[in-house]
Amino acid sequence: MASISSAAANGKAYQYVDHAFDVVVVGAGGAGLRATLGMAEQGLKTACITKVFPTRSHTVAAQGGIAASLRNMTPDCWQWHLYDTVKGSDWLGDVDAMQYLAMEAPKAVYELEHYGVPFSRNEEGKIYQRPFGGHMQNYGEGPPVQRTCAAADRTGHAILHTLYGQSLRNNAEFFIEYFAIDLIMADDGRCTGVVAWNLDDGTIHRFAAKMVVLATGGYGRAYFSATSAHTCTGDGGGMIARAGLPLQDMEFVQFHPTGIYGAGCLITEGARGEGGYLVNAEGERFMERYAPSAKDLASRDVVSRCMTMEIREGRGVGKNKDHIFLHLDHLDPAVLHERLPGISESAKIFAGVDVTREPIPVLPTVHYNMGGIPTNYWGEVLNADAQNPERLAPGLMAVGEAGCASVHGANRLGSNSLIDLVVFGRAAAIRAGQIIDRNESVPEVNTAACDRIMDRFDRLRFANGGTPTAVLRDKMQRAMQDDAAVFRTQESLESGCRRLSAIWKELADVKVTDRSMIWNSDLVETLELENLMANAITTIYGAEARKESRGSHAREDYSEGPLGGRDDVNWRKHTLAWVNEAGEVRLDYRPVHTELIADGIDAKKIEPKARVY
Ligand SMILES: Cc1cc2nc3c(=O)[nH]c(=O)nc-3n(C[C@H](O)[C@H](O)[C@H](O)COP(=O)(O)OP(=O)(O)OC[C@H]3O[C@@H](n4cnc5c(N)ncnc54)[C@H](O)[C@@H]3O)c2cc1C
Repeated sequence: MASISSAAANGKAYQYVDHAFDVVVVGAGGAGLRATLGMAEQGLKTACITKVFPTRSHTVAAQGGIAASLRNMTPDCWQWHLYDTVKGSDWLGDVDAMQYLAMEAPKAVYELEHYGVPFSRNEEGKIYQRPFGGHMQNYGEGPPVQRTCAAADRTGHAILHTLYGQSLRNNAEFFIEYFAIDLIMADDGRCTGVVAWNLDDGTIHRFAAKMVVLATGGYGRAYFSATSAHTCTGDGGGMIARAGLPLQDMEFVQFHPTGIYGAGCLITEGARGEGGYLVNAEGERFMERYAPSAKDLASRDVVSRCMTMEIREGRGVGKNKDHIFLHLDHLDPAVLHERLPGISESAKIFAGVDVTREPIPVLPTVHYNMGGIPTNYWGEVLNADAQNPERLAPGLMAVGEAGCASVHGANRLGSNSLIDLVVFGRAAAIRAGQIIDRNESVPEVNTAACDRIMDRFDRLRFANGGTPTAVLRDKMQRAMQDDAAVFRTQESLESGCRRLSAIWKELADVKVTDRSMIWNSDLVETLELENLMANAITTIYGAEARKESRGSHAREDYSEGPLGGRDDVNWRKHTLAWVNEAGEVRLDYRPVHTELIADGIDAKKIEPKARVY
């Protein structure tokens, strides 16, 4: 039962509504729901806080599918999945976490099936699997493997609805349309809960917990054009930064090759998996030239760069020669109807295109954040630095796109995020079940810390400067879009650092017009802007410092040599980034994990080499 405490912050009339739980999960996307369900199944008293209704989380938009080596369509094994993930990551991912992912993936997908996810079926009635970018047979030597399990092109939708139902069935308690403002940190550095604002009635809630799990998703909205929902504002990263903890590998931002030109909405890679291909203004299937074996199904960073080069060299399509065509019109309309109904609809609505007759205009668009809150492969958050690369931040876990385990390293393979959500959501629950003492009392919350949280809240609620939130957000989004793009240079990154630092200073001059506590979207967007800025500034400073090209971080000034500008001697390491209240960024580094956790693969297979498709 919640109790109401009389504490008032900063002399202003905030009454705290107090709650106590074993576990509080912030976020109800695929990662948050899989963690919530797992925790509740183990009898841990679990709350899930979410700023949007659970089934409106961005996971609902995931189209293409979820990777697991089920071998329902082609030969496959977890070793090949591991190899492809290591290579996809451009050798920046942690091998232990990637091995855990590949080995646990089939189990996690069968669990989803048993929970009720309505997967599409092959002729034998088994889960249907489609080819996806960067997933190949026989340690990358063979043709594309069919590894991506799909529920038509609405896989995320199916998973999210199923997991929400199962979480309710296991008596997890949901706090829906509650905005988590900040973590409650004890003086000894332990996280003891979270403060959240009920958007619907304006009340402020203190959740005391033995474990807080951040599952707040990515920060695509730091950019001007992104496939992600407007709610993807990196709130977990903002909370971590304000708690004085580091973020990891933020410079690695994925551009998806096929955002709809102009609108930014996604056309799944599954479209190319089903046989779609890209052409330039000359009608040429140019990917055959750049990636002779994988062609249109090369890794996302590779395809995005090739498209950008075609456009730069004057072979873009359209009036301004500034985009590329994706053809599906050669495919059987029955296949389009059965396997890609959602994207056929999106192409109609957002590009006015009938995919059975015309190509879709597409452009690389920001899609995914490989970086995030550093964790081990049990989801435990790391308070790491060079001296203490494995040090834990007690009381804290992070899963999903908000976290960085790191299984995607410098570039994520398509369909490896949905599997990351469920494998690590599940792993976090297993771990929490081992380390949480159910009989121990819930830690007392630190009132002084809560009051500081509400002081910051009030600073924004009553902010009376000269610049509206939307103006600052637009400046940030344009700076990121210009200066931390598909291709980067020292010049663009230095310009980005200058612009982001200047915008950080301008935050002091923000103006919030609405002072109310009920459905105050002006204030929500301002809290989100501060969170986005913590993510954006660590991204650009991390990128400026990394003097190499690796995965999605493609620097034109570091592009020579047999590895295309990758420098394994000096840069095969994770970036750690802190940002303080004044907007000063501090960087440090920690080693990449290169040790396997179990037998079953020849370590030589995963040693770094040139990354060609
Ligand atoms: C259009 C699109 C298509 C994709 N397709 C695929 C695909 O086919 N296969 C694949 O593997 N990956 C795909 N991805 C990537 C994948 O879907 C995402 O990485 C993944 O869904 C993120 O899940 P999540 O649980 O981490 O976060 P989300 O689903 O983004 O959920 C975040 C949750 O956190 C909550 N939250 C955030 N901040 C706060 C706060 N301050 N207070 C309270 N709650 C908060 C939100 O309410 C929400 O419930 C796609 C991504 C996009 C954008």
